[in-house]
Amino acid sequence: MSAWAIVVAAGSGDRFGGPKQYEPLGALRVLDWSLATAREVSDGVVLVVHPERAADPEPDADVVVPGGLTRSASVRAGLAAVPADVEMILVHDAARPRGSASLWRRVLEGVRVGADAVVPAVPVVDTLREVGGGTVDRSRFLAVQTPQGFRAEVLRRAHESEADGTDDAALVEAIGGKVLIVDGEAGNAKITTPYDLVAMRACVR
Ligand code: C5P
Repeated sequence: MSAWAIVVAAGSGDRFGGPKQYEPLGALRVLDWSLATAREVSDGVVLVVHPERAADPEPDADVVVPGGLTRSASVRAGLAAVPADVEMILVHDAARPRGSASLWRRVLEGVRVGADAVVPAVPVVDTLREVGGGTVDRSRFLAVQTPQGFRAEVLRRAHESEADGTDDAALVEAIGGKVLIVDGEAGNAKITTPYDLVAMRACVR
């Protein structure tokens, strides 16, 4: 089955204090790590960037498109650039540079064997409290990562309503799609704060 990847990198990094996806990480920029893995496991890569960067050359992407005001709008911009005959689509946050190729392949395999959406997830390590409530049982929760994998036709349908969500699996679930959870990776952490980047640099040579 053919597969393309959409790497969303159009965020402004407000919590980080700038566009973290362009910061150096080892010999590459943060976003290059995801582009390299996407290329290794898929047949084509769409990179979604901030409109101001849409004309910048990005040789590791097949297509570069300007993103939207929300993550979901950026995914839709990427979706529009994926060829219509592609059967599986991976959607990945450029802010997670260190997912392994075997994680990406595990996600694709879940789609290949019949899931509408495949979500990598890891156990929650912190104790959780509900805002205005009490401590909740953390064993009932998982922390969700990307790349998430989809049957292309289902992902396109999930985005037809132009709904917004913090991930795409939630939109697929909202239209009745079947979601499969697979093991994520502790190392596939998301860079949100400057500390996250310092910690990740310590793991990268
Ligand atoms: O803001 P957050 O860290 O949750 O964003 C997750 C990913 O979505 C990041 O890689 C970011 O660049 C991307 N994004 C986007 N377009 C937006 C907002 C976020 O491509 N409007």
